[in-house]
Amino acid sequence: MIHFTCDLCGKTLQADEDTRFVIKIEVYAAYDPMEMTEEDLEEDSTEEIHELLSQMEEMDAEELEDQVYRTFRFDLCPDCHAAYMKDPLMRAARMRVRFEDN
Ligand SMILES: [Zn+2]
Repeated sequence: MIHFTCDLCGKTLQADEDTRFVIKIEVYAAYDPMEMTEEDLEEDSTEEIHELLSQMEEMDAEELEDQVYRTFRFDLCPDCHAAYMKDPLMRAARMRVRFEDN
């Protein structure tokens, strides 16, 4: 029998019995050309570009790709799905961590 595992709680989900939710997350760097001002264009950015290029040379291809485009896919059980929908960016979890630090 085909089964899946909830990526959050580890619960086993039977393909034909349990409702399974799939989360796909797409993350990419947004470059908005409309944000360029005339000042930006007038500014001599050659040095900046060279610096950026040398930084890129130091990174390996995978590292570079992670910063540009990345997708995630998760299977969730109904309980974890309900919790995820309330707080997709895990803001509450971050707040808790910060609170515990103090
Ligand atoms: Zn779960």
